[in-house]
Amino acid sequence: MQHIEQFYKLWERLANINLDQHTPDDITWKLTRDGCYSAKSAYNMQYLGQVNSLMLNMVWKPWATPKCKTFAWLVLQNRVWTVDRLTRRGWPNCDRCKLCSQTQESASHLLFKCRYSMRVWNKLKDWLGLQDINTANWHHYRSVKEWWKEVIHKRGAQRKAMSSMAMLVSWEIWKERNARVSRNHSITVEMLVNKIKEEVSM
Ligand SMILES: [Zn+2]
Repeated sequence: MQHIEQFYKLWERLANINLDQHTPDDITWKLTRDGCYSAKSAYNMQYLGQVNSLMLNMVWKPWATPKCKTFAWLVLQNRVWTVDRLTRRGWPNCDRCKLCSQTQESASHLLFKCRYSMRVWNKLKDWLGLQDINTANWHHYRSVKEWWKEVIHKRGAQRKAMSSMAMLVSWEIWKERNARVSRNHSITVEMLVNKIKEEVSM
């Protein structure tokens, strides 16, 4: 039945086409409007079936330095060496979050659930006039990816700027965490916020 249906459709389409034996065949390039081949259209053809990865808009397109982007790409896949992952592997670690000493460190805790990180975000939120951001609700998000997608990425026209901001803040929090773990050196929330502001202006 399916074949008969296809045959019938084809027959209908061809019903009004009259072939002239004396007219030479034409070759038409279907990927340009004027039917002429162009190298550009052939190049673009390679991407016709592509599926946009969320990472493209969340990480690779917004402006940030390569180091920040690489960190964001890793942390969004939960692939940075936070205490929870080190513990699962049985590798030495600092046990508790070095920023607040309250709980075991995980990527989610470090970037948006930790008291220290939330204070950083609250100060930056006031500085940027982002009053609709409510850091008190962030504990609902189960992963960095979920938090990033909901709070930062879905911000309409501000999406790109907020993604850049999230990459910078996350990177600075991660550096502060590393300084505490490896050098036993720490700075206050205010100092980190000033550092981030300087980076933003640069
Ligand atoms: Zn903490």
